[in-house]
Amino acid sequence: MRIGIFGGTFNPIHLGHLIVAEEIRESFSLERILFVPSARPPHKLEPELIDAEHRLEMTRLAIQGNPYFDISAIEHQRRGFSYSVDTVESFRKECGKEAALFFILGTDAFSDINTWHEPKRLIGLCNFIVISRPGFSLEDALDFFTSTFGIKAEPGSRQILLPNGHCLYLSDVIPLGISSTLIRARIREGQSLKYLLPESVASYIISNGLYAEKRRF
Ligand code: ATP
Ligand code: MG
Repeated sequence: MRIGIFGGTFNPIHLGHLIVAEEIRESFSLERILFVPSARPPHKLEPELIDAEHRLEMTRLAIQGNPYFDISAIEHQRRGFSYSVDTVESFRKECGKEAALFFILGTDAFSDINTWHEPKRLIGLCNFIVISRPGFSLEDALDFFTSTFGIKAEPGSRQILLPNGHCLYLSDVIPLGISSTLIRARIREGQSLKYLLPESVASYIISNGLYAEKRRF
């Protein structure tokens, strides 16, 4: 089993997430990609982070129709902050030792993985796929990562050996300058959301009056 784990706040989920996930699924021959909306992200206690139930529902709507995409509410069922290290450990227990787990994240998220909870333990738990994202240098992020964690990488290498025999892969995907921040700003300004996120998600946002004003959760 080759399983992708794609975490995020998905506040809201957009076509950037979906397009890159599909691209990675295909290029890494993953049997499944699990979208894992973060319930209580330690990093993102910003006022614009809306209720976890809404983000879960929007993610559910967005992946409908793709038989390879699935959603996990694991971080919603757990108490306290949502730490990726706990999530990967749970999937490892559930899927068994033989499963190849690939944690998928964008270059921006990868650049600050050293600030995540127990980063050393995390990078020893599974494979990682770091995807390109406009505005963030994959090479700079990799340099910082290797020097911070004392990991050797050949210059220009796209596949780096991690502790415990796992690998870190660098993958160039279709460059898409879409972000949830951009979408939230467009909603506040009353601008069109067409072609930026699935229509079902846009309808959900509008019918629930989400992101229309700054709110605290
Ligand atoms: P925000 O602007 O609120 O931070 P976001 O668009 O970055 O939202 P997240 O939920 O923070 O979305 O991202 C989840 C994961 O998806 C992260 O690893 C992020 O790097 C990646 N990601 C999001 N959008 C893109 C994109 N357009 N291209 C590549 N990776 C992306
Ligand atoms: Mg982000």
